Amino acid sequence: MTMNDYEVVLRPIAGAALHLNAPMARYTVARLGGAAEALVLADSVALLEAAARAAWAQGWQVRILGGGANVLVADRGVRGVVIVNRAAQVSFEESGVLIAESGAALIGLARACIERGWDGLTWAIGIPGTLGGAVVNNAGAYGGEIAQRLLWAEIAEPEQPTRRWAPAELAYAYRESALKRCQAPFAVLRAALQLQPNADPEALRAQAESHSAHRRRTQPNGASLGSMFKNPPNDYAGRLIEAAGLKGTQIGGVLISPQHANWFINTGDGTAADYLALIRLAQERVAARFGVQLELEVELIGDF
Ligand SMILES: Cc1cc2nc3c(=O)[nH]c(=O)nc-3n(C[C@H](O)[C@H](O)[C@H](O)COP(=O)(O)OP(=O)(O)OC[C@H]3O[C@@H](n4cnc5c(N)ncnc54)[C@H](O)[C@@H]3O)c2cc1C
Repeated sequence: MTMNDYEVVLRPIAGAALHLNAPMARYTVARLGGAAEALVLADSVALLEAAARAAWAQGWQVRILGGGANVLVADRGVRGVVIVNRAAQVSFEESGVLIAESGAALIGLARACIERGWDGLTWAIGIPGTLGGAVVNNAGAYGGEIAQRLLWAEIAEPEQPTRRWAPAELAYAYRESALKRCQAPFAVLRAALQLQPNADPEALRAQAESHSAHRRRTQPNGASLGSMFKNPPNDYAGRLIEAAGLKGTQIGGVLISPQHANWFINTGDGTAADYLALIRLAQERVAARFGVQLELEVELIGDF
């Protein structure tokens, strides 16, 4: 693809929201990563869907990002089109049903539910990123997860009419879904969650504050991707990395947090290559010492 191809196909759809050769660092929570060949900042579902469909029709690689809270973008950047999802309209139905566009911030939705006295999303206070990312990853914490609340997700796919997927089709598991495993392109446009109305906002606020206090106590400060690896069955990735003697290890600008070994901190000038070197080191050491293969929770994106 030449830059002109992107201009011809995407400029008429996206206008000033199309950026060519766009550095990704500002769109990822880890604050690093090379440039996307083409990047669309989609502030509506209509633009998100139109840009995705136009790029799919060309056979281009398309990556839709929410908050970039669970992705590590390669230093060499990303080929094809990245669509950064900022479509964030929300509506609250009387029956405790929340319908939101997929670019809505999960923490903002959780706060809004608390203030309305709607129980069921308080666990999401402290999870960065968007509803779309949470639907794909089955985000969760403190015993809650998206799978428990999802009524439907509206999803676009190439050459198919956009339709609502039921929870069963999403085949949710721990931080997993049919979408996360899916090799074919798709875009989550909206989702509906079932909450429980008529709860006491004061009690929900107290619960949220207790979750936040726990995070403040246990989560390291600084730019990171949250948990780097999934917890293996009946164990903790952080415990294994610490027991392998790697707490506090630094490669380049990336540090295995001395506070929590499953958190890798970008100390400022870290690169994706530094992250990858630490990831491989942790996997190798833990496999050699304990025979456990640590599986990444974060996704590697682009030209590694
Ligand atoms: C400090 C910190 C704490 C965290 N704590 C938790 C936690 O407690 N629990 C937890 O589960 N996670 C946690 N995470 C990880 C992260 O917040 C979640 O995975 C979150 O759901 C990611 O959302 P996102 O919008 O940033 O997704 P992104 O990182 O932008 O994308 C994640 C994946 O979803 C895809 N995607 C995103 N939106 C769409 C869409 N609309 N359509 C199609 N595909 C899409 C992307 O292509 C990518 O494959 C934490 C991360 C950080 C940095």
